[in-house]
Amino acid sequence: MAEPITLTRTVDDYKSDEKPTWCPGCGDFGVLNALYNAMREKNYDPKDVVLVSGIGCSSRLPFFVSTYGFHGVHGRAMPIATGVKLARPELNVLVMGGDGDAFAIGGGHFMHAARRNLNVTYVIMDNQTYGLTKGQASPTAQTGYVTKASPKGTLEAPVNPLLLAMACGASFVARGFSGQPKDLAQLMLAGIEHSGLAIIDVYSPCPTFNKVNTFKTYREEVAPLPADHDRSNFDASLRIAASTEPRYLGVLYQREGPSYDQLLEERKSGTPADLPKLMDSLFERFS
Ligand code: SF4
Repeated sequence: MAEPITLTRTVDDYKSDEKPTWCPGCGDFGVLNALYNAMREKNYDPKDVVLVSGIGCSSRLPFFVSTYGFHGVHGRAMPIATGVKLARPELNVLVMGGDGDAFAIGGGHFMHAARRNLNVTYVIMDNQTYGLTKGQASPTAQTGYVTKASPKGTLEAPVNPLLLAMACGASFVARGFSGQPKDLAQLMLAGIEHSGLAIIDVYSPCPTFNKVNTFKTYREEVAPLPADHDRSNFDASLRIAASTEPRYLGVLYQREGPSYDQLLEERKSGTPADLPKLMDSLFERFS
């Protein structure tokens, strides 16, 4: 049985001196609160947590948390997180960013992060728009999304982040909603505890620019996973991920298997021990 955790910290211990600068009603507040509560529930020492972000409204999040943080360049949060995790594997590394950062500017990194399976948690605050630059259509914006840059509506189909993650080999794929921060905190903890890359796409409305995907519409569209869903079943999870009526929340897919950092450690520890054997066999061969 797991040792009980002695809670010595409150949510306030995880708040930095910087006050969030998001618009009133922004969905990212719910994600931030979920993160505070997830860290408090496990009594994480702030010095053991690193938050890495790219560019966008949601990527400001590390400023508001008293952990280590790295505000990187657009779309490059994952490579930075990879470097941090490989250098300091004992730290809890989370990438906190938006849908543009993850699926457009950082789209190539997303694919390789999923197949690499490094032990990192990637929380995507998905508001289906580029809020920071005044509301253009992002890769997850629905077809027909009207903006000043697309006054007749977009023509493209949206990316489904969950299907994309699964197709790229992700070992943990989940969806949350910032309107349900308690459940989201549990998803974050499940992601942190998962051995490998945990991808959590979070519906996080932008009330300033996206008047279509709102808290109200999500409340009507989301549903918990069916009680009998087997998250280790890839095909069943694909069907759940593809569903839009309803849009399921929870850990849709999870598979066991070594993370990249585990494989790397095995390789590193194996090399010196194998070297004498290898040398002996070479000497035998050429003597
Ligand atoms: Fe949030 Fe949208 Fe405001 Fe950005 S523009 S802070 S995403 S509500």
